[in-house]
Amino acid sequence: AKEAGRDRWRRYESSLHSAVVERHRLRADLDRAIADEAFLLHFQPIVTLTDRRTHGFEALVRWDHPTRGMVPPDDFISVAEESGLIVPLGAWVLTNAVRAAAQWRIAYPEYETYVSVNVSARQFRTPEFAQWVLDEIDRMGLPPGCLQLEMTESLLLHDDGEVAAALAALRRAGVRIAIDDFGTGFSSLSYLRRLPVDVLKLDKSFIDTIASSTEQHAVVDTIVQLARILNLEVVAEGIETEVERDLLVTMGSKHGQGYLFSRPLSYRDASQWLLEDAS
Ligand code: C2E
Ligand code: CA
Ligand code: CA
Ligand code: CA
Repeated sequence: AKEAGRDRWRRYESSLHSAVVERHRLRADLDRAIADEAFLLHFQPIVTLTDRRTHGFEALVRWDHPTRGMVPPDDFISVAEESGLIVPLGAWVLTNAVRAAAQWRIAYPEYETYVSVNVSARQFRTPEFAQWVLDEIDRMGLPPGCLQLEMTESLLLHDDGEVAAALAALRRAGVRIAIDDFGTGFSSLSYLRRLPVDVLKLDKSFIDTIASSTEQHAVVDTIVQLARILNLEVVAEGIETEVERDLLVTMGSKHGQGYLFSRPLSYRDASQWLLEDAS
């Protein structure tokens, strides 16, 4: 038994070891990737649920890795957050998303659309973040209302006042503020009234079960009603079926994104999507 125990320990230790090595390697690769700008952005359309017209695009980062191919963000964002590399990476994402939106505005001036950018807590807490964002959109000539920032509830909950002040400054300038993955964190309804936000993004995990679970259906229905009372926009994530879309429309949720409408698109394909939608 003792032998077996030792064996198990050794196996555990070695798998732990390889996980650590793996993260280490990823970190080193990521370091280089930031220097080489080996990232690209995809854009997922956010649509009006009734007529499917484009409301905006969410910018989603991908890593074009020399040997691993296209690495999805779930495999590297947490490493980037731990190491602090999320700060330069996040800056690259924001600058390029703003540039894309500015180009779309020039190409399709009659078509109002915004770009929505994911912002990590660590990035948001860097000094002068709000001013830097405003400088970037100004430099690229993008109206503030054409930019939305998505952040998670945890950032908003553990606030020391600085986060709220930065959010207020951005919002005063006209930037849209969204709470991402709404409902998955330690939601406290009181902060919704307190904080300057415009949009609740309902996490995909809620949408997945609205058709099969009456309980989940009731939860989503309640959030949509709450949002209406608080004058917040709701964007439902991860809509994959017509049934899900219909249920959300019935509840009064106006906007959403998901494979039912479109997967995240390359810049070119997103431009084409806009062109077809605008005509
Ligand atoms: P998220 O912010 O919740 O983004 C939505 C994710 O759901 C995206 O995955 C999107 O491709 C996926 N998705 C959209 N519609 C559907 C659907 O109908 N079905 C399914 N199964 N999935 C759908 P993606 O692009 O792999 O991104 C994963 C997460 O990585 C994002 O989750 C976000 O938290 C993070 N992320 C992506 N880009 C950035 C970034 O630039 N900065 C930061 N900080 N995080 C990012
Ligand atoms: Ca998001
Ligand atoms: Ca989500
Ligand atoms: Ca997220």
